[in-house]
Amino acid sequence: MSVALELRGPRVINARGNSTKAGGSVLAPEVIEAMAEAARFFVRIEDMQAAAGEVIRRVTGAEAGYVTAGASAGLTMAAAAALAGLDVEKMNRLPDTAGMANEILVLRRHRNDYDHALRLAGAKIVEVGFEWTFPYELEEAITERTCAMFYLAHDPVPSLPLADMIRIAHAHGLPVIVDGSVANPPASNLHAIIGLGADLVAFSGGKHIEGPQASGILCGRRDLILSAALQHQDMDVYPETWPLRHLVEEGLIVGPPHHGIGRGFKVGKEEIAGLICALERYVVRDFGAEAARWTRDLETITTGVRGLPGISARRIDPAPDALPQVPRVEITVDPQAAGYTANDLVNRLQAGDPLVCTVEGQARRGIVGFLPLALLPEDASEIVAAIRAISSVAAGAG
Ligand SMILES: *Cc1c(COP(=O)(O)O)cnc(C)c1O
Repeated sequence: MSVALELRGPRVINARGNSTKAGGSVLAPEVIEAMAEAARFFVRIEDMQAAAGEVIRRVTGAEAGYVTAGASAGLTMAAAAALAGLDVEKMNRLPDTAGMANEILVLRRHRNDYDHALRLAGAKIVEVGFEWTFPYELEEAITERTCAMFYLAHDPVPSLPLADMIRIAHAHGLPVIVDGSVANPPASNLHAIIGLGADLVAFSGGKHIEGPQASGILCGRRDLILSAALQHQDMDVYPETWPLRHLVEEGLIVGPPHHGIGRGFKVGKEEIAGLICALERYVVRDFGAEAARWTRDLETITTGVRGLPGISARRIDPAPDALPQVPRVEITVDPQAAGYTANDLVNRLQAGDPLVCTVEGQARRGIVGFLPLALLPEDASEIVAAIRAISSVAAGAG
């Protein structure tokens, strides 16, 4: 057996979307080939990043782009760029931000697990508003300690439109950082968020773009992307021979920084090649065929579990402005009639072989979610078979 299969253990059916926990994406043969080819040569990583940045710039319409180790790493780099700008002394000090403008304004509804990524760079999060945030509250929260504002692209009921935040931030000379990790699909968000005027947007390479799991995109203002790059790349360099010494000669920076806050988020040549290959495929992918496949798979699940005791399944379509634009199936479990709870269903599915990963967020409320994004052919029927088997074991026990 191959090393990869040996490490994998039981086969996994991924009904939770392109989630990191379930391995992200299955890569297209072209993407795998791009990574394999990159594995066979040496390259100066800054040269490869510069070429990749050109592609990202073209696809997103941003001034500049950069390949990161994921959206979370991208958010840390974005915060580092907002904190230090092109001030090399500040770059060298992060995450120590004592005495710097280090506050990032975040709408209260937009607090989430991933804002740790911003704090990691040394930023301090300042929450603004309550369930809703009014423009005047954002305006009044700005002080001389503010360095940026943060926005979660997938707020289902925008408590303050992104365009309003951008307008207020720019009136005060502040950049807006957007978490666009689940803003796709639709693919149009790759450029629409930049089009609104966001200064830095972080995307996941391993989600709907279906690039390598440990890759992402940071795109936006040229000076901020340069700052992120300088704080990300290996800085084992000398002023006289540094390939980017023109930055010093042009007076943009006083000298090369030391290894920065992002050094631990390094991106290999294989990830850069794979991500760019996936991104170029993404803009020409057949999303209509994808949506038709999703519909078939969801239909297979809803009809396949029909009639099982205590189980009801229905397709849920996303609201027109919700992100990502992906339908799902929700199975509601009535523990009395089924003989097991929704949490039991999740646990029994993830103890099976094949092992089925589901969306667990509402299991405590009796609902198990199934996303079609990462299902492979036959997966939907195998999910049905697994649920039917769990149901008949429960019926036998009851
Ligand atoms: C997945 C996710 C991220 C992190 O993306 P990675 O590419 O895995 O680093 C950040 N924010 C949100 C809201 C996400 O869902």
